[in-house]
Amino acid sequence: MKRLLLLLVVVVNCVTSVPLKSSMERGLRGNPWENSGKFQGDMVFSRKRNGLIDNYYRWPYGKICYTISPGFTQPQVDHIKNVYASGFSGTCIQAVECQDCCNGDYVYITNNPEDGCYAIVGRVGGPQQLNLALNCLDAGTILHEMTHALGFWHQQSTPERDDYVTIYLENVEDGKEGNFDKYGSDYVSSFDQGYDYCSIMHYSQTAFSKNGQPTVVPKWQTSCEYEIGYAQALSAVDKLKINAMYQC
Ligand SMILES: [Zn+2]
Repeated sequence: MKRLLLLLVVVVNCVTSVPLKSSMERGLRGNPWENSGKFQGDMVFSRKRNGLIDNYYRWPYGKICYTISPGFTQPQVDHIKNVYASGFSGTCIQAVECQDCCNGDYVYITNNPEDGCYAIVGRVGGPQQLNLALNCLDAGTILHEMTHALGFWHQQSTPERDDYVTIYLENVEDGKEGNFDKYGSDYVSSFDQGYDYCSIMHYSQTAFSKNGQPTVVPKWQTSCEYEIGYAQALSAVDKLKINAMYQC
Protein backbone atom coordinates (compact mmCIF):
# COMPACT_ATOMS: atom_id res chain seq x y z
CA MET A 1 0.00 0.00 0.00
CA LYS A 2 1.26 3.41 -0.75
CA ARG A 3 1.89 5.96 1.83
CA LEU A 4 0.49 9.33 1.97
CA LEU A 5 1.31 12.45 0.38
CA LEU A 6 2.36 13.88 3.53
CA LEU A 7 4.37 13.21 6.39
CA LEU A 8 4.34 14.36 9.75
CA VAL A 9 5.68 16.82 11.90
CA VAL A 10 6.73 19.28 9.42
CA VAL A 11 5.78 22.81 9.59
CA VAL A 12 5.12 24.29 6.30
CA ASN A 13 5.08 27.90 5.50
CA CYS A 14 2.20 29.03 3.55
CA VAL A 15 1.37 32.45 2.55
CA THR A 16 -1.90 34.08 2.26
CA SER A 17 -3.42 37.33 1.44
CA VAL A 18 -6.26 38.96 3.13
CA PRO A 19 -9.01 38.71 0.63
CA LEU A 20 -8.58 36.35 -2.25
CA LYS A 21 -5.85 37.40 -4.55
CA SER A 22 -5.40 36.36 -8.11
CA SER A 23 -2.14 34.82 -9.21
CA MET A 24 -1.39 37.97 -11.14
CA GLU A 25 -1.74 40.03 -8.03
CA ARG A 26 0.53 37.67 -6.20
CA GLY A 27 3.32 38.34 -8.60
CA LEU A 28 5.71 36.07 -10.40
CA ARG A 29 7.43 34.43 -7.51
CA GLY A 30 4.71 32.22 -6.30
CA ASN A 31 2.54 32.02 -3.25
CA PRO A 32 3.40 33.68 0.00
CA TRP A 33 3.55 30.26 1.61
CA GLU A 34 6.24 29.28 -0.83
CA ASN A 35 8.48 31.99 0.54
CA SER A 36 8.10 31.74 4.26
CA GLY A 37 11.57 30.45 4.80
CA LYS A 38 10.63 27.13 6.33
CA PHE A 39 11.21 23.62 5.08
CA GLN A 40 9.80 23.37 1.55
CA GLY A 41 8.59 26.91 1.96
CA ASP A 42 6.10 26.48 4.70
CA MET A 43 6.52 23.26 6.60
CA VAL A 44 8.03 23.02 10.02
CA PHE A 45 9.81 19.84 10.69
CA SER A 46 10.10 18.38 14.04
CA ARG A 47 10.43 14.78 13.22
CA LYS A 48 10.36 12.93 9.99
CA ARG A 49 8.08 9.96 10.02
CA ASN A 50 6.12 7.83 7.70
CA GLY A 51 3.50 10.33 6.97
CA LEU A 52 0.16 9.71 8.06
CA ILE A 53 0.48 6.08 7.67
CA ASP A 54 1.17 6.18 11.28
CA ASN A 55 -2.19 6.72 12.90
CA TYR A 56 -0.61 8.66 15.72
CA TYR A 57 -0.09 11.63 13.44
CA ARG A 58 -3.67 11.71 12.30
CA TRP A 59 -6.50 13.47 14.03
CA PRO A 60 -8.84 10.89 15.54
CA TYR A 61 -12.07 10.60 13.62
CA GLY A 62 -10.99 13.44 11.36
CA LYS A 63 -11.72 16.02 14.03
CA ILE A 64 -9.05 18.70 14.04
CA CYS A 65 -9.36 21.32 16.74
CA TYR A 66 -8.04 24.82 16.53
CA THR A 67 -7.84 28.08 18.42
CA ILE A 68 -7.29 31.48 16.90
CA SER A 69 -4.92 33.99 18.45
CA PRO A 70 -6.52 37.17 19.81
CA GLY A 71 -4.10 39.01 17.56
CA PHE A 72 -6.48 38.62 14.63
CA THR A 73 -9.27 41.11 14.02
CA GLN A 74 -12.83 39.88 14.34
CA PRO A 75 -13.41 40.01 10.56
CA GLN A 76 -10.26 37.94 10.07
CA VAL A 77 -11.42 35.45 12.69
CA ASP A 78 -14.82 35.17 11.03
CA HIS A 79 -13.16 34.69 7.65
CA ILE A 80 -10.84 31.94 8.88
CA LYS A 81 -13.69 30.14 10.61
CA ASN A 82 -15.85 30.35 7.51
CA VAL A 83 -13.07 28.93 5.36
CA TYR A 84 -12.62 25.98 7.70
CA ALA A 85 -16.36 25.46 8.02
CA SER A 86 -16.88 25.18 4.26
CA GLY A 87 -13.46 24.24 2.88
CA PHE A 88 -13.49 20.59 3.92
CA SER A 89 -16.96 19.79 2.67
CA GLY A 90 -16.94 16.51 0.86
CA THR A 91 -14.49 15.08 3.35
CA CYS A 92 -14.91 13.62 6.80
CA ILE A 93 -12.76 16.36 8.30
CA GLN A 94 -14.32 18.49 10.97
CA ALA A 95 -12.35 21.60 11.84
CA VAL A 96 -13.65 22.66 15.22
CA GLU A 97 -12.77 25.74 17.19
CA CYS A 98 -12.21 24.86 20.80
CA GLN A 99 -9.86 25.13 23.73
CA ASP A 100 -10.03 21.85 25.53
CA CYS A 101 -11.22 19.30 23.06
CA CYS A 102 -9.22 16.74 21.15
CA ASN A 103 -7.56 15.65 24.37
CA GLY A 104 -5.48 18.79 24.40
CA ASP A 105 -4.19 18.36 20.87
CA TYR A 106 -5.00 21.35 18.75
CA VAL A 107 -3.75 23.78 16.16
CA TYR A 108 -2.91 27.19 17.55
CA ILE A 109 -3.32 29.74 14.79
CA THR A 110 -1.11 32.77 15.13
CA ASN A 111 -0.45 35.82 13.00
CA ASN A 112 3.18 36.66 13.64
CA PRO A 113 3.84 39.12 10.82
CA GLU A 114 7.44 37.99 10.45
CA ASP A 115 6.73 34.29 10.15
CA GLY A 116 4.79 34.13 6.92
CA CYS A 117 2.59 31.10 6.43
CA TYR A 118 3.52 27.75 7.83
CA ALA A 119 2.22 24.69 9.60
CA ILE A 120 3.44 21.53 11.25
CA VAL A 121 2.65 18.45 9.21
CA GLY A 122 0.35 16.05 11.00
CA ARG A 123 -0.84 15.93 14.60
CA VAL A 124 2.13 16.07 16.92
CA GLY A 125 0.43 16.13 20.31
CA GLY A 126 -0.43 19.17 22.40
CA PRO A 127 -0.75 22.61 20.88
CA GLN A 128 0.95 23.06 17.53
CA GLN A 129 1.43 26.37 15.80
CA LEU A 130 0.09 27.33 12.39
CA ASN A 131 1.01 30.86 11.38
CA LEU A 132 -1.01 33.03 9.05
CA ALA A 133 0.60 36.40 8.52
CA LEU A 134 -1.50 39.09 6.92
CA ASN A 135 -0.65 37.96 3.41
CA CYS A 136 -1.66 34.39 4.26
CA LEU A 137 -5.37 34.95 4.64
CA ASP A 138 -6.74 33.93 1.28
CA ALA A 139 -8.87 30.81 1.35
CA GLY A 140 -6.31 28.82 -0.62
CA THR A 141 -3.52 29.44 1.84
CA ILE A 142 -5.72 28.94 4.89
CA LEU A 143 -6.76 25.54 3.54
CA HIS A 144 -3.26 24.68 2.31
CA GLU A 145 -1.78 25.16 5.77
CA MET A 146 -4.53 23.26 7.51
CA THR A 147 -4.11 20.42 5.04
CA HIS A 148 -0.46 20.25 6.11
CA ALA A 149 -1.70 19.97 9.70
CA LEU A 150 -3.90 17.09 8.59
CA GLY A 151 -0.73 15.31 7.49
CA PHE A 152 -0.11 16.13 3.86
CA TRP A 153 3.10 17.17 2.17
CA HIS A 154 3.40 19.07 -1.05
CA GLN A 155 2.19 17.28 -4.15
CA GLN A 156 5.43 17.72 -6.10
CA SER A 157 7.46 15.95 -3.40
CA THR A 158 5.80 12.61 -4.12
CA PRO A 159 7.82 9.74 -5.63
CA GLU A 160 6.10 9.77 -9.02
CA ARG A 161 6.42 13.50 -9.58
CA ASP A 162 9.10 13.26 -12.28
CA ASP A 163 6.56 11.56 -14.50
CA TYR A 164 4.34 14.61 -14.25
CA VAL A 165 6.46 17.71 -13.81
CA THR A 166 9.91 18.92 -14.82
CA ILE A 167 11.89 20.65 -12.11
CA TYR A 168 14.27 23.36 -13.34
CA LEU A 169 16.78 23.66 -10.54
CA GLU A 170 18.81 26.13 -12.59
CA ASN A 171 16.01 28.64 -12.02
CA VAL A 172 15.74 27.98 -8.29
CA GLU A 173 17.13 30.42 -5.78
CA ASP A 174 20.53 29.40 -4.52
CA GLY A 175 20.22 27.34 -1.39
CA LYS A 176 16.53 26.61 -1.92
CA GLU A 177 16.99 23.51 -4.06
CA GLY A 178 15.98 21.31 -1.15
CA ASN A 179 12.45 22.56 -1.50
CA PHE A 180 12.21 20.39 -4.60
CA ASP A 181 13.31 17.16 -3.01
CA LYS A 182 11.08 14.20 -3.54
CA TYR A 183 10.38 11.41 -1.10
CA GLY A 184 10.05 7.68 -1.35
CA SER A 185 6.89 5.66 -1.18
CA ASP A 186 7.83 4.71 2.34
CA TYR A 187 7.31 8.32 3.36
CA VAL A 188 4.45 9.58 1.28
CA SER A 189 1.57 8.11 -0.58
CA SER A 190 -0.90 9.26 -3.16
CA PHE A 191 -3.42 6.84 -1.74
CA ASP A 192 -3.80 5.34 -5.16
CA GLN A 193 -5.29 8.58 -6.40
CA GLY A 194 -2.40 9.57 -8.62
CA TYR A 195 -0.64 12.85 -9.22
CA ASP A 196 -2.89 15.88 -8.98
CA TYR A 197 -1.91 19.10 -10.75
CA CYS A 198 -4.99 20.75 -9.29
CA SER A 199 -4.12 19.98 -5.69
CA ILE A 200 -4.19 22.73 -3.15
CA MET A 201 -0.83 21.29 -2.10
CA HIS A 202 0.92 21.89 -5.43
CA TYR A 203 3.60 24.53 -5.89
CA SER A 204 3.07 27.27 -8.43
CA GLN A 205 5.17 27.11 -11.57
CA THR A 206 7.55 29.82 -10.39
CA ALA A 207 7.94 28.72 -6.80
CA PHE A 208 11.37 29.72 -5.48
CA SER A 209 12.37 31.16 -8.84
CA LYS A 210 15.41 33.41 -8.76
CA ASN A 211 14.90 34.82 -12.22
CA GLY A 212 11.18 34.73 -12.93
CA GLN A 213 11.61 31.64 -15.05
CA PRO A 214 9.60 28.48 -14.29
CA THR A 215 10.79 26.01 -11.71
CA VAL A 216 7.96 23.46 -11.88
CA VAL A 217 6.45 22.76 -15.29
CA PRO A 218 3.72 20.18 -15.99
CA LYS A 219 4.59 17.55 -18.57
CA TRP A 220 0.96 17.01 -19.44
CA GLN A 221 -1.96 19.24 -20.14
CA THR A 222 -3.77 20.38 -17.05
CA SER A 223 -7.41 21.23 -16.67
CA CYS A 224 -7.74 22.76 -13.27
CA GLU A 225 -10.27 25.28 -12.14
CA TYR A 226 -7.44 27.44 -10.87
CA GLU A 227 -3.97 28.04 -12.22
CA ILE A 228 -1.62 25.36 -10.99
CA GLY A 229 -0.36 26.29 -7.55
CA TYR A 230 -3.09 28.83 -6.89
CA ALA A 231 -6.04 26.66 -5.96
CA GLN A 232 -8.49 28.33 -3.64
CA ALA A 233 -10.33 25.15 -2.80
CA LEU A 234 -9.53 21.50 -2.27
CA SER A 235 -9.53 19.59 -5.53
CA ALA A 236 -11.68 16.53 -6.00
CA VAL A 237 -8.54 14.42 -5.67
CA ASP A 238 -7.47 16.26 -2.52
CA LYS A 239 -10.76 15.23 -0.98
CA LEU A 240 -10.33 11.63 -2.05
CA LYS A 241 -6.86 11.54 -0.53
CA ILE A 242 -8.01 13.08 2.72
CA ASN A 243 -10.83 10.60 2.99
CA ALA A 244 -8.44 7.78 2.20
CA MET A 245 -6.00 8.92 4.84
CA TYR A 246 -8.75 9.23 7.40
CA GLN A 247 -10.46 6.09 6.20
CA CYS A 248 -13.87 7.59 5.82
ZN1 LIG B 1 2.85 24.18 1.97
